[in-house]
Formats: sequence, C-alpha cells, structure tokens
Amino acid sequence: SSALRDTVLEVPTVTWEDIGGLDDVKRELQELVQYSVEHSEKFSKYDVTSSRGVLFYGPPGCGKTLLAKAIANECRVNFLSVKGPELLTMWFGGTEANVRDIFNKARQAAPCILFFDDLDSIAKSHEGNANNGGGAGDRVLNQILTEMDGMGATKNVFIFAATNRPDIIDSALLRPGRLDQLIYIPLPDAKARIAIFKTVLRKSPVSKDVDVESIAIELKGFSGADITEICHRACKVAIRESIEKERQRDRETAIDDEFDSVPEIRRDHF
Ligand code: ATP
Repeated sequence: SSALRDTVLEVPTVTWEDIGGLDDVKRELQELVQYSVEHSEKFSKYDVTSSRGVLFYGPPGCGKTLLAKAIANECRVNFLSVKGPELLTMWFGGTEANVRDIFNKARQAAPCILFFDDLDSIAKSHEGNANNGGGAGDRVLNQILTEMDGMGATKNVFIFAATNRPDIIDSALLRPGRLDQLIYIPLPDAKARIAIFKTVLRKSPVSKDVDVESIAIELKGFSGADITEICHRACKVAIRESIEKERQRDRETAIDDEFDSVPEIRRDHF
C-alpha cells in the first residue's frame, strides 16, 4: 500500500561501538530486548509480560535514534522506522488504515523494533484544546493506542519512540503496557564526550599533538551530533591540506608521483 512507502524496513548497521558513552543504557536495553526474544517462555509461564515499549527523551542529537538502531542490530531484530511528521502530512485520507498497515508490517517482521521518531508531532496532548478534537493527529494517536493494546505478548514487536518534548506527550501513551519505560538520554558529560570523540575518530589518523581529552572537556554543553560535526570538519581540513600538499609537490618536482600523503588530523585542524 502507498502508506508503507514512508516506512523503511532494515537491519541497521549501527553497532554499540558507534555510540560513545551511554553504557548503562546500552546494557539495560540489550537485556530488555534479548531476554524477551530469547526467554519469552519464562515470562509467559509466570503470566507476566516483559516490557516492550520504550520512550527515549532528551535534547536533540544525543543518540536516541542511534541507540534504537544499535539495539536492533546487536539483538539481531528487524528495524522499522516511522517519522512522526510524515505520518500526519503525507498520509491524508486513510490515516487509521495506514497506522494499521505499519503495525501489520511490524508483526510480519517480528522480532522487530518499530521506531517512532519525533513522537511529539503525532502524540501531542490535546487536553484543554477543544479545536483539535477529532483531528488527524487524534485519529492517528488513538489508532496507535489501539494497536499497542492489541499487540499481545506473544509477538516480539518492540515499540520504541523518541522525543525532545516529553512534557507534551499525551499521557495515555505512557500507561503500563504501552511506552512504559522512560529513558532519559542526556547531553554527554565530560567522560561521555571523550568517549564520543574516540568513537568518531576511531578510523581517522590523528596526530599525537591532538589531546582529545582536553578538547572534549572544554566542550561543555555540546551534543554527540555537535562533536561528530566538529570531528568531521577537522577531518575535511586535514584532507584538503594533504591534497594541497600533494599538488604543491607535483608542481615542484614536475612529476606526478604516486606517493599519497596521509591526511593526519592535527590540533590546529579543530
Ligand atoms: P534528534 O532528537 O535530533 O532526532 P537524536 O537524539 O535522535 O536527536 P541521533 O539521530 O541519534 O540523535 O544523533 C545524531 C547524530 O549525532 C548521529 O548520527 C551521530 O553521528 C551523532 N551522535 C549523537 N550521539 C552520539 C553518541 N553518543 N556517540 C556517537 N555519535 C553520536
């Protein structure tokens, strides 16, 4: 159906190694998904369900999407991603049917993580806002709730979602059996910033004069996305410089030698 064009089914390539910091969260999530998938009989024997709904919240660019993908990869489950705003803008018409299609697709792909990015755009609380009753957002939200409740414990479909605005999420979504695990993904502290630097630079040649730790400590308030950008810029400066050096050498010697200079990242490239 046309609605499914907007959802992408994949097994992500992101691994725990690609994520700097967040060690406790990684461990917790690995257990949540792995125990459920590998030991579902233990839960059903005692008539309890393991939690299958997680809401990541916190400032932008700190690894919420990255985490969801890494869990899918590390736990060998499928990953189905839906962007909140697209649910509303592109799916005019049979919105409820579209939500049903997504959950059907997730069930067929089980074990699977169904990930709602920017959840606040669809799951805004309309309490006290009479104008919005019955709007597309409400219908989508209600259908999501219905699907979550009807999912049943036997299917290993994990619903993960991310938001920067937990304060405006409709509280109905956070009830037990729905997105009942709230996990805060904070801005990285100094130790986590160092870990992110090392993660991002792990495949780049970095000169010994670069003191990653002192740079990381200085960047208080920077997100993982900011640090990634800073490293990528430094790497591009280093590459440009090495190209210029090669061109210079070729001009001077008038030979196009095959000697590649390695674009090493130095302190002054940051
Ligand atoms: P948003 O709310 O903007 O969607 P998010 O928390 O989902 O933010 P991500 O999409 O996971 O953020 O991160 C954006 C990019 O920033 C990642 O693709 C990655 O390059 C980098 N990044 C963020 N956090 C980390 C981290 N902890 N370790 C390594 N890279 C990170």
